Amino acid sequence: MFRKILVANRGEIACRVIDTARRLGIATVAVYSEADAGARHTRLADEAWPIGPAPARQSYLVADTILEAARRSGAEAIHPGYGFLSENAAFAQACAEAGLVFIGPPPAAIRAMGSKAESKALMERAGVPLVPGYHGEAQDIPVLREAAARIGYPVLIKASAGGGGKGMRIVASADDIAAAIEGAKREAAASFGDDRVLIEKYLTRPRHIEIQVFADTQGRTVSLFERDCSIQRRHQKVLEEAPAPGMDPLRRKQMGEAAVAAARAVGYVGAGTVEFIAEGDAFYFMEMNTRLQVEHPVTEMVTGLDLVEWQLRVAAGEPLPLGEDRLALRGHAIEARIYAEDPDRDFLPAVGTLVHLRQPQDVPGRVRVDTGIVQGDQITAHYDPMIAKLIVWGEDRPAALRRLGAALAEYAVVGVTTNLGLLRAIAGHDAFAAAELDTGFIARHAPDLLGGASAAPDSDGSETAALAATALSVVRDRAAENAGQAQATGDPWSPWAAPDAWRMNGEAAQDLRFRQDDAPAITLRVHPLADGSYRLAWPGRSVQAALTADAAGPLLAIDGVSRRLRVVWHGAECTVILAGRNHTFVVEDPLAPPRTEAAGSDRVTAPVPGRVTHVLVRPGDVVERNAPLVIVEAMKMEITLRAPQRGTVAQVRHAVDDMVEEGTELVTFAAGEPGP
Ligand code: ADP
Repeated sequence: MFRKILVANRGEIACRVIDTARRLGIATVAVYSEADAGARHTRLADEAWPIGPAPARQSYLVADTILEAARRSGAEAIHPGYGFLSENAAFAQACAEAGLVFIGPPPAAIRAMGSKAESKALMERAGVPLVPGYHGEAQDIPVLREAAARIGYPVLIKASAGGGGKGMRIVASADDIAAAIEGAKREAAASFGDDRVLIEKYLTRPRHIEIQVFADTQGRTVSLFERDCSIQRRHQKVLEEAPAPGMDPLRRKQMGEAAVAAARAVGYVGAGTVEFIAEGDAFYFMEMNTRLQVEHPVTEMVTGLDLVEWQLRVAAGEPLPLGEDRLALRGHAIEARIYAEDPDRDFLPAVGTLVHLRQPQDVPGRVRVDTGIVQGDQITAHYDPMIAKLIVWGEDRPAALRRLGAALAEYAVVGVTTNLGLLRAIAGHDAFAAAELDTGFIARHAPDLLGGASAAPDSDGSETAALAATALSVVRDRAAENAGQAQATGDPWSPWAAPDAWRMNGEAAQDLRFRQDDAPAITLRVHPLADGSYRLAWPGRSVQAALTADAAGPLLAIDGVSRRLRVVWHGAECTVILAGRNHTFVVEDPLAPPRTEAAGSDRVTAPVPGRVTHVLVRPGDVVERNAPLVIVEAMKMEITLRAPQRGTVAQVRHAVDDMVEEGTELVTFAAGEPGP
């Protein structure tokens, strides 16, 4: 076994690998970019080496710098994690040439599976079932059009070199095929430096089911069963589970055998995942990921294995720790990915500082949180917006699902928009409980899961409770402030410093004004009562409330009903977290001038920090409303910025490859309507 390894990654996966290495007595070397100098993975490792500026292309993707850090630190092997260099055959090769073990498959296996088209050709020969489609070399439009007609519409165009759900287009009819191919090729060339595409039958209600495989250098390959990753947004996984609901032993055996055949066909070694798309009784090979997957913990939970330990053992030349006959499934596991993103704005990645972060308690074998982030950290546009993975286990699926709901309710994140509301809505949805899974789940149930759903009427009283907690928190802080001032001025008995409130005309009361989102401000009157509680009154409501605290944290009582909650202040913003849900109010200063309206629509600004990848207009162009203007890449996503209205472009302020901050003006429009 190795004595020391370098982890060429960051975030939760770097921490995950370091944990196992430490348990096995292996020393660890982290690498970090300038943005990650204080990051959790940097602090967790035994050593940490700087590798350059924040952008991944100048740090985590620079093979030479990482190899140099490995050489100088005396590491014997490199674990690449996932993403970054993990599926880079040239890097695996360079490791070998530098006398280092790459903890992953041989370069030839990475190369063979690296192209969706080539891997499909290989799989066809190995007898692995494929989605009906075309993955040939000829790429001219007539050939592709003819292939699409043969496959039958709807079809899906994918970039051969693609990944991350990028560059995929669904085409409904022959009328749109030529334009879609051209668009997909353009996008593929820009994103992957390779414009080849393939065409597949588009399955309308498929499930994503993948098989975890493992192979050692002695020629043994096993299947560690399946994961169902059908809950997706933008063709990217959000919730994953093992085993796949409804999977019968025969089908599991068939899929396992197909996956093992796929791995054997490329001389695979180490951990890999063979992804299938399934519809009805049929399943088809989609691609093989030649690395550890983000969702590997659900397999660990149901098999009781540590897959990183297996990776290390196999890379050190040991045989697989267990053979097929000793592998078994136990219970059910579900993983939820907690992302910094806004599901209500088309899953736009969010950035910001995690002002407050509380995660569920780890319960060995039951609840596990994998994360590389701590309170106070920033989510930047340089890296993936995943904050954490929450993995739960139960004796069966309903038990796991209950635990998922409870753990999601324990989450508290303030400062960055997250998908926690969506995750909770899915975990609590009847169709999810009934395991009605397919990749269209989120889109189909959007009315129950997004926007409107979280702004539901105050049926459980949580809105009222949140508003009351905010008001009482203000009252308490002001009382504390007044008491402090009175002490400072030497007149602790001044009536103006009384900790309860203003006392005028015999009645003690103070008015507070709060705003929530874009709703009109609410004025709330607070009357202190003799027992230390308060009467709170606002249009249409009046309640008696008290905010206290005990060892378990703050407790709010409203009209006799008490609830646990958390109150987090961030400037003039107060976030009350109730059952894991955030309710944010802005306290209005009665003396402040009224807020001015947001900037007009004569300019287009970057919604998140990122890199400009395409500029599609020039000054003087007349564009229609919604015309694409600029494409910005942020956190592995392409965001197309469109014209807010018909108009004439006055200025384009940035060029391709410029890094832009949130709010940076990208395009401005000339005043007035353009001519016809
Ligand atoms: P990427 O490598 O970019 O992630 P994949 O080929 O793995 O792309 O596909 C990602 C997702 O896209 C799948 O999980 C599935 O939801 C959807 N998908 C892929 N192929 C098809 C298809 N032929 N029909 C319907 N959906 C598909």
